Amino acid sequence: MKLAVIEGDGIGREVIPEAVKVLDAFGLEIEKVPIELGYARWERTGTSMSNEDLETIKGCDAVLFGAVTTVPDPNYKSVLLTIRKELDLYANVRPVKPLPGVVGVIGRSDFDFIIVRENTEGLYSGIEEIGYDLSWTKRIITRKGSERIAEYACKLAKKRKNKITIVHKSNVLKSDKLFLDVCRQTASAHGVEYGDMLVDSMAYSLMMHPEKYDVVVTTNLFGDILSDMCAALVGSLGLVPSANIGEKYAFFEPVHGSAPDIAGRGISNPLAAILCVKMLLEWMGEPRSQVIDKAIADVLQKKIITPDLGGTASTIEVGNAVTGYVMKNM
Ligand code: NAD
Repeated sequence: MKLAVIEGDGIGREVIPEAVKVLDAFGLEIEKVPIELGYARWERTGTSMSNEDLETIKGCDAVLFGAVTTVPDPNYKSVLLTIRKELDLYANVRPVKPLPGVVGVIGRSDFDFIIVRENTEGLYSGIEEIGYDLSWTKRIITRKGSERIAEYACKLAKKRKNKITIVHKSNVLKSDKLFLDVCRQTASAHGVEYGDMLVDSMAYSLMMHPEKYDVVVTTNLFGDILSDMCAALVGSLGLVPSANIGEKYAFFEPVHGSAPDIAGRGISNPLAAILCVKMLLEWMGEPRSQVIDKAIADVLQKKIITPDLGGTASTIEVGNAVTGYVMKNM
């Protein structure tokens, strides 16, 4: 197994080394391939990612990624969007689950759902024209793209409560009618129960009744926005991991960005990145991955927590505590 390790910029450089420590504690045969991408690379070399980098990534099986700062250049092509497209990572999977002892904005911990977001089309198609008086972006919804994300959501639902919620805005965006119809047809074909919600009502409902949802399937931009919002349910952006899954490759990244406001201070929360390692291990079929949940519960209970959760621990202290628990309890 070959793993590309991309720390990126800002706190990506702080949280990924902690995640790698936890991964190393499992003693698996994984060849790690470090790759430098992002804003700092662009500043240094004028490019944030070269074709060679992309080929190196394609030579790996999976990627562990921190975060990159967006390059302030109108011609900048997003590193992340390029990788997702090139590796055809069509399913963006974001579990939203409370962690023991951490209370989010609405003070509840009775929810456990997964947002499955179509990751290659929608408003992130990259087909756009930016002008002085007129700018536009094409929103692409295809039958194939909708079918495969619906298939993914249904397969996941079968392992859980056999129920999906399709999130769309088909009352205004006619392109979403195709997405909605295909998701309904796919759910019926799989014998999966389904309901649907308009994205605006869904945002409200997720805050009021998060316990009602299990597998939520939606288009690219809606999924992006809803999943950041749902990080507030969990308690911090520093707690939410994500996986980008394709037929051949998988790519794991915390939901948060490079957080320039706290970067370099050693206080970023590494738990989202560490939970990415858990998702990576699950993807690899490693049965011991659950020990990471136990390790995180242990450090939270001992209040070894970073300032975003009200603690005083550093990124490295949290990483060391999780790694120590994993090594002792595997
Ligand atoms: P952000 O997620 O970086 O930060 C939002 C807020 O959450 C900040 O106050 C930050 O301090 C806090 N936060 C985020 N992660 C945290 C952690 N692990 N521990 C503690 N606090 C944490 O979003 P932003 O500020 O809008 O974006 C900063 C840069 O990151 C931008 O250039 C943006 O384009 C980029 N970005 C990259 C990714 C990615 O690479 N996947 C995702 C989102 C944003």
